[in-house]
Amino acid sequence: MSTTLSLTRPDDWHLHLRDGDALRAVLPHSARQFARAIVMPNLRPPVTTTALALDYRRRILDARPHEGPGADFQPLMTLYLTDRTPPDEMRRAREAGIVALKLYPAGATTNSDAGVTDLRKTYATLEAMQREGLLLLVHGEVTDADIDLFDREAVFIERVMQPLRRDFPELKVVFEHLTTREGAQYVQAADRYTAATLTPQHLLYNRNAIFLNGLQPHLYCLPVLKGEEHRRALVQAAVSGHPRFFLGTDSAPHAAALKEQAGGHAGCYSALSALELYAEVFDAAGALDKLEAFASFHGADFYGLPRNRGTVTLKREPWQLPQTVPFGEATLKPLRGGETLAWRVVQ
Ligand SMILES: [Zn+2]
Repeated sequence: MSTTLSLTRPDDWHLHLRDGDALRAVLPHSARQFARAIVMPNLRPPVTTTALALDYRRRILDARPHEGPGADFQPLMTLYLTDRTPPDEMRRAREAGIVALKLYPAGATTNSDAGVTDLRKTYATLEAMQREGLLLLVHGEVTDADIDLFDREAVFIERVMQPLRRDFPELKVVFEHLTTREGAQYVQAADRYTAATLTPQHLLYNRNAIFLNGLQPHLYCLPVLKGEEHRRALVQAAVSGHPRFFLGTDSAPHAAALKEQAGGHAGCYSALSALELYAEVFDAAGALDKLEAFASFHGADFYGLPRNRGTVTLKREPWQLPQTVPFGEATLKPLRGGETLAWRVVQ
């Protein structure tokens, strides 16, 4: 049984970094492990223009460690797609190095009230994105109150993904934080313009975990964890070596108090130990040899970006993840906080 594993430096293709003190608190955790990350634009107010994204990028660069691991971390910027995003902004965005737009169906998750109410309103913009080579990253759930929470991803495939693929066949689309067997099958069967990210929590846990030993608010995220058959399908997709499944943590920091109150916020904070958690998943599936492509190659290849140079090394060495970490004036409870992890990033 191997005890160390060296990988080409990986990237996180779905990350929430927040802003201000929160940004400064969490950024080093991601930068320690990942060379680059796709940074989500759901700030308040949302990052809807190239100018806002470039300002945000500057604040992220300023929050990097000044030396040592993470000093060269590169944020990959995204814009928040709204009903009113102008098509002519797409060229400016591409010229400024922005790589993607994020589609949040209005009301789907944290800070998504500015999201898209009807995809048809964005068609001219999607056309411009397809032309400019910008990717569309989707939160793949419908938000209709009459659709059961656990069925919203499958219904999204029918109602949104299928028409979208038909109408924009060469727009690259990433189905973010996939949670269901239906989603995995859909992406497997799709053409080379459709990919998906998988989070550590959806690979490690099923929905029982949310209710085990009382309500577990730190396992509440959106899209919500699904049943065991879905988790297994996601693990299978992750370890299959299929080039259109790749790492995206959806690490989403919220102050612990805001998650533990009534109406607690959705989101798991996995950035502290993301790569270690994925290693555990691949190890359990007997597929450690597939981890590097999933973490370090498939995403870059799909985005059309160069693969990273340099390596990161994981060691099979039990260690205890801190229960909490500072988060500005508040504290953050990481996914698996206080528990023992089997793998550790050592360099
Ligand atoms: Zn997210």
